[in-house]
Amino acid sequence: MKRNQTYCLQCGLPLVGRADKKYCDDGCRNSYHNARMMDANKICRPYHRSLKQNYSLLFDHLQAGQSLVHKDELMLHGFDPKMSTTFELMEDGTLCYGVYDLEYFELKDRYIQIRHCPAPKPPGWAR
Ligand SMILES: [Zn+2]
Repeated sequence: MKRNQTYCLQCGLPLVGRADKKYCDDGCRNSYHNARMMDANKICRPYHRSLKQNYSLLFDHLQAGQSLVHKDELMLHGFDPKMSTTFELMEDGTLCYGVYDLEYFELKDRYIQIRHCPAPKPPGWAR
């Protein structure tokens, strides 16, 4: 029984060999994956930059012993309140935002409370 002809995902040339082959060679495989990663990086880079900026600002204040900081001061230094990795509604109805292993929430008069949060356990982590 003759199988259908398949073509390289990168260059489009007909493939010869195993039925599950997707590329002519390592060069085509690498080019294909590099191009895909470049597109993903282009989209993700500004988000990563903002998250890292937010994290650095919160981390620096916490390291300096300032767990309470005015929101205006953070924003003056480039803090973007729209950028967080998680958010959670606390029992009192306050939204708590997470940026990696730090979390923060707004108190009265636009003061931000910063604190460390426990690292999330990877999926399937039973013990
Ligand atoms: Zn190819």
